[in-house]
Amino acid sequence: MNLEELKIKLSSILDEDEIKYNEPMKNHTSFKVGGPCDILVIPKTKEKLILTLKEVYAANVPYFIMGKGSNLIVKDGGFRGVILKLTGLDYILIRDNKVIAGGGASLSNTAREALTNSLKGMEFASGIPGTVGGAVAMNAGAYGGEIKDIIEWAECIDQNLKLVKLSKEELDLSYRHSKVHDDNLVVVEACFNLEKGNYDEIKAYMEDLNRRRIDKQPLNYPSAGSTFKRPPGYFAGKLIEDSGLKGYRCGGAMVSEKHAGFVINYDNATARDVLDVIKHVQKTVYEKFGVTLETEVKIIGEE
Ligand SMILES: Cc1cc2nc3c(=O)[nH]c(=O)nc-3n(C[C@H](O)[C@H](O)[C@H](O)COP(=O)(O)OP(=O)(O)OC[C@H]3O[C@@H](n4cnc5c(N)ncnc54)[C@H](O)[C@@H]3O)c2cc1C
Repeated sequence: MNLEELKIKLSSILDEDEIKYNEPMKNHTSFKVGGPCDILVIPKTKEKLILTLKEVYAANVPYFIMGKGSNLIVKDGGFRGVILKLTGLDYILIRDNKVIAGGGASLSNTAREALTNSLKGMEFASGIPGTVGGAVAMNAGAYGGEIKDIIEWAECIDQNLKLVKLSKEELDLSYRHSKVHDDNLVVVEACFNLEKGNYDEIKAYMEDLNRRRIDKQPLNYPSAGSTFKRPPGYFAGKLIEDSGLKGYRCGGAMVSEKHAGFVINYDNATARDVLDVIKHVQKTVYEKFGVTLETEVKIIGEE
């Protein structure tokens, strides 16, 4: 099946506002870079997501799952195929000490809902700008906490389009890694097991962490957070700073002066600019320290 046939099939499943054609991905990534995607689907329900995936698998076209695009670079040539953006699955429910959220729910809203219900343990997540599904896939973490510490299970769609509920152990979470990526799963819901706490203490801790972020991170420029993974035994930001790369620029992209671990979109950067900065940083740090910096940010699409 070609893309035109797939478009017809999908338009019979989805409402008009759930499907976009030739959509510039710079409008859907926190880096604000990225060319057009042939078909962008933002389904409002799990059922529509499954029906869409069924058609996409049958058509045998390339596809990609995304949340808020806060850890994503789409190249300037865009993406040939279908991107499924899960932000329509954004419900958040409280059941005693547990928070159950849709895969597309904002992680920070989920942490705030935990606060409203005086549930502690999710404070670390309140400043991470992705979705619940993206956070599970990446085992997102900050300030000594990570998704692995609080998750009880995640419901996922597997490659056979079956809904499977994976326990914390089955998710095989480690530093910025999970089974979600290994097995091409789609996270549609997750349950976090928290503890009853004191509202004011939880709020004060969240505010403290968010102040620390504002102090240390270049939050007034588009970026994808830490561009590189932490190499064993080192800190990426320190290696980059010690290589004299703070402020290094290619076009509109730059190594942040405030935090060398962040590449930022300083001035209308293209994806090419960002990737050129990344490549130069990797090369320089390797030459100086013999350390390979792997990107934490996911890179898709064509030049
Ligand atoms: C200013 C800033 C600060 C940040 N700080 C942190 C931080 O402190 N700690 C941290 O860990 N990260 C941080 N990040 C990075 C990012 O927010 C996290 O990695 C986040 O978990 C990504 O979620 P997302 O929904 O945006 O995923 P996306 O960027 O859309 O996707 C990232 C990856 O997850 C996969 N994915 C997304 N949703 C799903 C799903 N439902 N099912 C299966 N796979 C999925 C995608 O396929 C992709 O491989 C920061 C980013 C920014 C811009």
